[in-house]
Amino acid sequence: ATPTSIMVGTGRAAELGVLFRKGDALQRLQDVGVVALDKTGTITEGRPVLTDMVVADGWNRAEVLRLVAAVEARSEHPVARAILAAHGGGDLPAAQGFASETGFGVRADVDSHAVSVGAERMMTQAGISFDALAGVAKDWAGDGKTTVFVAVDGHPVAVAAVSDPIKKGSRDAVIALHDLGLSVAMISGDSRAAANAIARDLGIDHVIAEVLPDGKVAAIDALRQNGSGVAFVGDGINDAPALARSDVGIAIGTGTDVAIESADVVLMTGDLRGVVNAFDISQRTMRNIR
Ligand code: ADP
Ligand code: MG
Repeated sequence: ATPTSIMVGTGRAAELGVLFRKGDALQRLQDVGVVALDKTGTITEGRPVLTDMVVADGWNRAEVLRLVAAVEARSEHPVARAILAAHGGGDLPAAQGFASETGFGVRADVDSHAVSVGAERMMTQAGISFDALAGVAKDWAGDGKTTVFVAVDGHPVAVAAVSDPIKKGSRDAVIALHDLGLSVAMISGDSRAAANAIARDLGIDHVIAEVLPDGKVAAIDALRQNGSGVAFVGDGINDAPALARSDVGIAIGTGTDVAIESADVVLMTGDLRGVVNAFDISQRTMRNIR
């Protein structure tokens, strides 16, 4: 492609809300065979809502929600926002010694109780068994929900689920990417069961789940092993290294600044059909079709 056709291509893309921060990305998109998508905030809205909660005998929901909300008030994770919204505001007890372990969950002391809130692996790591409650949570994860486990003083106290709506456009984007001959992968920190359920629903080919923050870069490298280039689409702070590592990093414009700065291409709206537009324009430009 000539410099002029690149200019025309990036101009057309901009009209469609696809900003090429680097002109050569238009060219590099032609070598991409796999499009990897982050789940939360990229495929989904990133605004989960608390949908389910079951508490252990001897506890009541309001009591547990109060303890959990006190801890989550200190967290910026989307799950925390869902729990605080469900609590509905109002006074919360103080949380002392708050700690957050990315990919696992959060903990703090509330009313002199040690409260932990997080993924099942956080509880497994702490040696806390949820028995029957774990079975309930498994069903929710099978529906694509993110499950949340609550322990108080080392005892299993509740399981909850949050549901994050799939964005308008995500389903059509996967279909269109397949039509372009690309394979589609999902990379997520969420549980395997929840990630698989969403991938199955959308027809996504590969799922890499329960990925810890550093694991996203390794996931990109693994996807590249079949020899074709990998485009990665993400929105979060922890997506930045993978955006930089991929052959073409595509950030959601409504995402974090760190993600945008690490990307080659920025989608002005959150709609994943923008990824399809980027490939379309790349193809037209490289073939010099107007
Ligand atoms: P992702 O954003 O893809 O879910 P994270 O690494 O941020 O990946 O989190 C992985 C998992 O850890 C979450 O799906 C959730 O189950 C759990 N988790 C993380 N932070 C919190 C939190 N503040 N409250 C409850 N669970 C959390
Ligand atoms: Mg995300």
